[in-house]
Amino acid sequence: MNSAKIAVVGSGISGAVCASILARNGVSVTLFESARGPGGRMSQRREVSEDGKELLFDHGAPFFTVSNTEVLGLVQEWESRGLVAEWKENFGSFDCASTKFIDRQQEQVGKRYVGVPGMNSICKALCYDPGVESKFGTSVEKLEWIEDEDSWSLMALDGRNLGHFNGVVASDKNIVSPRFTSVTGRTPPLDLNLVPEMANKLQNIPVHPCFALMLALAQPLSSSIPFKGFSIKNSEVLSWAYCDSSKPGRSADSEQWVLHSTMEYARSIISQTGLQKPSEATLTRVSEELFQALQSTGLVPFEPFYKKAHRWGSAFPATSIAREEKCLWDEKKKLAICGDFCVSSNVEGAIISGMAAASKFKETLSCL
Ligand SMILES: Cc1cc2nc3c(=O)[nH]c(=O)nc-3n(C[C@H](O)[C@H](O)[C@H](O)COP(=O)(O)OP(=O)(O)OC[C@H]3O[C@@H](n4cnc5c(N)ncnc54)[C@H](O)[C@@H]3O)c2cc1C
Repeated sequence: MNSAKIAVVGSGISGAVCASILARNGVSVTLFESARGPGGRMSQRREVSEDGKELLFDHGAPFFTVSNTEVLGLVQEWESRGLVAEWKENFGSFDCASTKFIDRQQEQVGKRYVGVPGMNSICKALCYDPGVESKFGTSVEKLEWIEDEDSWSLMALDGRNLGHFNGVVASDKNIVSPRFTSVTGRTPPLDLNLVPEMANKLQNIPVHPCFALMLALAQPLSSSIPFKGFSIKNSEVLSWAYCDSSKPGRSADSEQWVLHSTMEYARSIISQTGLQKPSEATLTRVSEELFQALQSTGLVPFEPFYKKAHRWGSAFPATSIAREEKCLWDEKKKLAICGDFCVSSNVEGAIISGMAAASKFKETLSCL
């Protein structure tokens, strides 16, 4: 057992993987997450329809693929724990210009994996692995380096002292980014002056936004739609559609779809309404516009009984800042910065980065 205490900020897949690996190596890990539940962009959204029906949507990443052998090993372990399953449905493309579907089975993308029963299941399980203490609804507002003690002191948004730690894993770029200030009006938790050698890379990480539209339908769309996932070509508004309820382990009570907007559409809405949390009025407008775009394809001849939009202001990082090292690491301060923005803008990239951050700590455990 190692006496080191490590704080992990963020319960997205990179933070959750890192926390779980560290705990397995005997490190005492405390994970802080500002949201009420785990998963970050692999979250599951719980909604209730007007007639009181519970609706669960994977409103972030709909699935993930794996090509890296080490990640595959981890995913197979999750599969054996019942946290992950293959989503075996057929995918295609819909061309709005010709109003025709194109079968894309020829394009081999490998297995599509989903969390079971929701995309958040993996992070949820990892956040409760033995040795990980997770605190949800806890925003880390300040990461303070105490030079004399060689340790970090963490402060919560409500001013609470969250404790002292030998090392920190920061798994969200907003922890250091000026974008944090544009969204919240507050100073980012980590002062870049503390880590000048990382500052250049972290200062301005461009991101692509996306809106997701969650739909629940009383009748199935199977007669008009031959696929359970399809990209949408030649649309200025819509980019992808996924039949959420066709994933393994989901409730069969109603058919549920999640649509993704184009980045350009999301950007144009944000340029009109600002970076701050969108108002209900904005989300209602977006949900109407996305649904109208779907209706104009002729694929959905009836109204859903539930529809709601969600904004992902930073859905996809537009660059990778640590393609070689997979995470940023300050040996002296025992600070690791990880996340998809280090490797590639997908779940696999985030897992690789979380594993790399854990490796940095494992290599130096004896010094802690
Ligand atoms: C709409 C959409 C579609 C996608 N489609 C796919 C796909 O098809 N395939 C695929 O592989 N990937 C897809 N992705 C990308 C994938 O979801 C991400 O690459 C991955 O989930 C990122 O994980 P992460 O751990 O790096 O970051 P995140 O999931 O963003 O986790 C960071 C966490 O840190 C928390 N946090 C931040 N600041 C603080 C703080 N100060 N205190 C406490 N907590 C904090 C956040 O709340 C968040 O939970 C999609 C994403 C979106 C949004």
